[in-house]
Amino acid sequence: MQHKKPILAIVLPCYNEEEVLPETLKQLTALYHTLLEDREIATESFILFVDDGSQDNTWQMIKTYAKNDTFIKGIKLSKNEGHQNALLAGMHYAKNQCDCLVSLDADLQQDPHAISDMLCKYQEGYEVVLGIREDRNSDSFFKKFTAESYYKIMNLMGVELEFNHADYRLLSQKALSFFMQFKERNLFIRGMVKLLGLKTCKVYFKSNERFAGESKYSLQKMLSFAWAGITSFSLFPLKLITISGVLIFIVSIFLSIDVLYTVFFTNEAVPGWASTVLPIYFIGGIELLALGVLGEYIGKIYTETKHRPLYFVEEEAA
Ligand code: UDP
Ligand code: MG
Repeated sequence: MQHKKPILAIVLPCYNEEEVLPETLKQLTALYHTLLEDREIATESFILFVDDGSQDNTWQMIKTYAKNDTFIKGIKLSKNEGHQNALLAGMHYAKNQCDCLVSLDADLQQDPHAISDMLCKYQEGYEVVLGIREDRNSDSFFKKFTAESYYKIMNLMGVELEFNHADYRLLSQKALSFFMQFKERNLFIRGMVKLLGLKTCKVYFKSNERFAGESKYSLQKMLSFAWAGITSFSLFPLKLITISGVLIFIVSIFLSIDVLYTVFFTNEAVPGWASTVLPIYFIGGIELLALGVLGEYIGKIYTETKHRPLYFVEEEAA
C-alpha cells in the first residue's frame, strides 16, 4: 500500500500538435491544480511534453509553456521517431524524477480526468493501471473494424492484448524500472507492459473526438505499428511456414505414389509426364519444409537477440 502523496509525471508524445496543444495545456493545468489541491499528488509532480521531431511550432510552444510554469517540462527528439519511441524517451527522462508515470496522447481523445481514478488504484497498491476506452463511437467505421480485427488476429496468434487499451496507463516506479530492462528496438509498449507480471487493474474512460488537428498516425504508420506488434510478440507466421511445409510434403508423397502407380500399373501415362511432375511435387514439398525448419531457427535467433529479461524479482525477504 502506498500512502504518501506520489510525485506524478504525465508524459505526452506530440507530433505536429500545434493546433491542439493550447487546449491540452489548459485542461492538464486545471487537472494538475485540482490534483494538488485534493492532495492526490506531490508538488514535485510535472507534465512532460515530448516533441517527436515536429515540423510545426510544437517545440516553440512547449518551450514557452516550460518557461512560464515550473511544473511543465519538455524534451525534443532530433527527428520524428514515432509515437512508441517518443513515449519511451519520455519514460526514460522521467523515470528517476517520479513515483508514478501516466502516459497519454496529446490530442485529448483520452479523457485526462481518468488520471485521478488511476491514482486511486495506485494508492490501493496497483503497479500498472490500464486506461480502457468505454466505446469506440468517436472512431470511423474503418478504424473500429481494423482495430477490432487486429485484436482478434493477435489473440489467435497467442498474443494477449487488453481490448480497447492503447497507451493511456499509469506505471509505478517499480513497473517503470522493470520496463527499462527491456532492450528491444521494435517497440510495442502495450504488449511489453503485459509481460511485467505486476499487479494490474483497469480504469474506464470516455473517448472523445480528437480536439483539433488530424490523426498523426498515417495508414503507413498504423500498418507498420500493427506489424511490429505481430512480429515482436509472435512467431506464429514462421510456424505457419513449417505447418504448411509439413502438409504439402505429406500431400506430395501421396501424389508421387499416385504418379508412380499410373506409370507402372496403367497405360494412361504420357511419356515425360512423370519425370516432369514428380520433381515439382517432391522438391516443392521439401523446399517448404526446409524453409519452415530454417524459420524455426531464425525464430530462436530472433528471440535470443531481443535479450528480453528472463524474470523480474518483485520482492525480497531477509
Ligand atoms: N505521435 C507521435 N509521433 C508520431 C505519431 C503520433 O508522437 O509519429 C503522437 C501524437 O502527437 C499523439 C499520439 O502520438 O499525441 C497519438 O497519435 P494520434 O492521436 O494522431 O493517433 P490516433 O489517435 O489517430 O490513433
Ligand atoms: Mg488520437
